[in-house]
This record gives sequence, C-alpha cells and structure tokens, in this order.
Amino acid sequence: MKEETSTKRRRKLQLALLVIVVSVIVVVPMVSIHGKSKKGEKGIITFDGLTRTYGGCNYAAIIRVDDLIVDNNFSKELPNTLIGKNKYFNNYENALIDWMLKNKPNVPLTIGVITGCPSGNCSYYWNIYSVLARRGWEIASHSRWHVRPPRKPEDYLGSIKDIESNITNYSVVTYIAPFGKFSMSEILNLKKKTCVRVLMTTWPFQIRIPRFRRNDIVKIGFTVKLSQHLPWKPYLWIAIHMAKTIRGLLIVYTHATSYDWRNPSSLIHALAYTIGRLEQSNAWVTTPRELFSYELEVNSIEVIRINTTSFKILYSLKLPCNLNIVPVTLKFKVAKGYLVKTVLIDGKILPRYFNKTCKISEGPWYLVSEREVYVTLLPRNGEIITIISEGSKK
Ligand SMILES: [Zn+2]
Repeated sequence: MKEETSTKRRRKLQLALLVIVVSVIVVVPMVSIHGKSKKGEKGIITFDGLTRTYGGCNYAAIIRVDDLIVDNNFSKELPNTLIGKNKYFNNYENALIDWMLKNKPNVPLTIGVITGCPSGNCSYYWNIYSVLARRGWEIASHSRWHVRPPRKPEDYLGSIKDIESNITNYSVVTYIAPFGKFSMSEILNLKKKTCVRVLMTTWPFQIRIPRFRRNDIVKIGFTVKLSQHLPWKPYLWIAIHMAKTIRGLLIVYTHATSYDWRNPSSLIHALAYTIGRLEQSNAWVTTPRELFSYELEVNSIEVIRINTTSFKILYSLKLPCNLNIVPVTLKFKVAKGYLVKTVLIDGKILPRYFNKTCKISEGPWYLVSEREVYVTLLPRNGEIITIISEGSKK
C-alpha cells in the first residue's frame, strides 16, 4: 500500500516536472545570431548571413558522457565521494568506446574524464583517448579527483595538465564541473591559466561562461539527463522539439557508470536510441570544442558583394588553443522566379547536395532549399562565391 502511494506520488512529481520544463521552455527567448557579416543589397542573390549550425541542420546537439577514468584502480584506491554509489567504471567505459567505434564511428562524443592516476600507469586509456581525440571526440576535464568544491588548483588545473601532456597538440576547451558544482575562483583560474572556455554543468539551461562576445553562437542549451532512474524519453522528445524550434543547442548527458545504468548494455541501448532520434531530427551532433571554433569563425567572416551574383569572403582568423578550423555555412536568398543552376568558388563548380547533411564533411558544397542556398566551406580569405541562376521576374 505504502509503496503504491509513493509510486503515485513519484508519478505526480514527474508529471509536474514535465509541465514545469515545458512551460519554462516555451518562454525561452529566441536568440538571433548572424555574426558581423554584412547582408547584401537586394538583387537576384542576397547574402543572408551565416547559419548558426553547420550545413543548415535543424539544431546542434552534444552527447556528453561523464566519469570516464584513466585508472583501472581509481575506484579501489581513492577515498572518494564517488565510491559507494558507483561500483563499476571500466567495463562501462570499454563497452561504450567499443560500441561507438563499431556502430557510430562518425558520431563524436564529449567525454568528461577523471584524470587522477593513483596507480601511476594510465597509458592504456591515454592512448585510447588520443585516438578518440583525433576522431573528433572531445576530451573534457572532469577534474582529477572528483570532489566537491572548494577544489584545490592541483585538482582542476592539474587535470588540464594531465590531458594536455598525454594527448599531443591538444588543448582542453571544456570543463565539466564534478557534481555540476563549482566555485567562482575555480572558473576564473581556469579562464586565466588555461584554454578552457566552456563550462558544463547539470543545469537544464546551459549558459556558456565566460561569455566572449555578444554574438555567441549558442547561448542557451537544453540539457537532458539520460538515466534509468528518470523518464528521460519524454524529456528527450520535448528537448529535441524545442531545440529544433529555436534552432538552438541540445545537450544530452549521462554517466558511464553504475550510477545511471544497471549494466553497460542498458547505457548502450539508451545511447543508440538517442543517437537515432538526433539523426532523424537532422541534428548536427557536435562538441563544445567544435561549436566554439564555429562561433569564432562565424564572428570573423565578412562577406562583401562584388556584383549581382558574386560575393567575396574576408577572413583572417587564426584559431587559438590548437582548435581545428570547422566548415561554416553561408546562407543566400534567391529572388522569386529564379532557379539556382550552379555555384562556383573561385571559378570551380561545387558539388550539389540534395539533402541536409548534418555530419561534418569538409566541403565546399551547396544545397538548395526552396529559395535558400546554403554554401558550406572552410573559410579562406579572398575566396569568391558565384551563384549562377536562371529565370526572370515577370
Ligand atoms: Zn562526475
């Protein structure tokens, strides 16, 4: 009897939460982002700014998995707050990496790594993370010892050092605060002494700090936690819908431990389901690191009109922090009555894509959707885009 009422109460609570989430989401203001690019004058072809997501995808999504550990013995040797609740680490971690590489080799995950290495030999996982980093996964810091704040600088700054000294030519951009909690001195220290520019927490609304410029590519994200203890499927459904509506950012996160999942295969099932949903809804599955590059690039590109059909790109950014340049997408509008025939860059004909593609490919390529033309390219200074169309206005 007692159990029944508590289940009922829990259901009511979940329902109430759902209602709160929906109502909060509905009032979230739209964020408009176009960088400092100049819009063209009216003509057959008009430059309409840079898109906030790659390839004209509906929204950006980050899949984040926390509590990966570099040391097999971590859980046995440390008197850590994690112990007790989490009994298993490496079998989840191994299963996760294995499954992703076999089944979703092009989907990059963001992993929050606990870098403490009490055994002194953690090269096994560092070698794996190096491979993953080269494949586009983001290796985020989740501190060294996973304790509650206030944390010692050796804990958070040390973990950045651990990652950067074990993965060649890699700078850590993202810090995932353990337990979602942090002190301001910790964040200021990270900002001052490292390349960390993205702070991830567990809040349902993810605000990027520190804020660099007014035109941040994504200011607000919807965060959904995947866990067998939560009704995460309806939350995911709502969050996808909302991220799509405002063309925003969705962050899905979970733990690769027994904290969230009965066994490794239940974690894998949830991820497989989630990735399927993201792909169906045309999400650009990306990483904070990639979004950060994209944001810097978008804010550094200027497009100037040369004549009625040609535009020149002005771009001189050198990305900091060992970041790789990410292809950006420019949007043009075509006047009524005209059809796009060909798109050229520096006189070379681009391949045309017929569907939105939300997996990063280098480009350049173009896509026509009704009267919009999306051109995706790795920006270079002085490149000239020419859009040739036919037809005439009556
Ligand atoms: Zn954690």
